[in-house]
Amino acid sequence: MSAENSNILVVEDEPGIAELVIYTLRESGWKATVAHNVDDAWSSIQNHTPHLVLLDWMLPDQPGLRLLEKIRANRQFNELPVIMLTAKSMEEDKIAGLDNGADDYITKPFSPRELTARVNALLRRKAPEHSQSLMTAGPVVLDPISCTVAVCNEKIDVGHSEFKLLKFFLAHPERVFSRGQLLDKVWGDHVVIEDRTIDVHVLRLRKVLKDAGYLIKTVRSVGYMLSEK
Ligand code: CA
Repeated sequence: MSAENSNILVVEDEPGIAELVIYTLRESGWKATVAHNVDDAWSSIQNHTPHLVLLDWMLPDQPGLRLLEKIRANRQFNELPVIMLTAKSMEEDKIAGLDNGADDYITKPFSPRELTARVNALLRRKAPEHSQSLMTAGPVVLDPISCTVAVCNEKIDVGHSEFKLLKFFLAHPERVFSRGQLLDKVWGDHVVIEDRTIDVHVLRLRKVLKDAGYLIKTVRSVGYMLSEK
């Protein structure tokens, strides 16, 4: 699945709900891991930073709100998208969650469809490269779920690295990225490749996009960007 690097942490102690949420997320193409309490969730975040956290309000060791405060107070993780899951529909709880930096909340019981829609909406807003919605620019359409790219409604063959690169560009149109930034954001810091490799992948990407190759612009002495202009 294309969501190989889109990992969602589900912090939920009720096994039935955790299972349903995990199942729903995986069906939609995300990776999902579960933590049953605040302590485990915090270690999980530190060991393997997720791209989004679904956080239950009532947890056995500490309130979910404590984890939210911890995340927001931490320099490394304070941008992490967080959706609170709450059985409480009381207005003051929602406000407390939002006041403490939750990006959204979902009231239990919720449908799988609502969950997917909220997760997608938040990712689109905060980490668009991890959203599972169709992404388009000019004649190019990328489907993150089936991992396919079409140009003018015709499917094209794209290599793995070019796919990741295109997805990143589509998620951040009209923004210039240096080679270093692309390395960091598209390949992550676990991979050792040289800046020059980026140029090779960009060239290949332009080539497979054929007539739509013009979308990937070289910005001299800065880097690259996707632009329809
Ligand atoms: Ca609970």
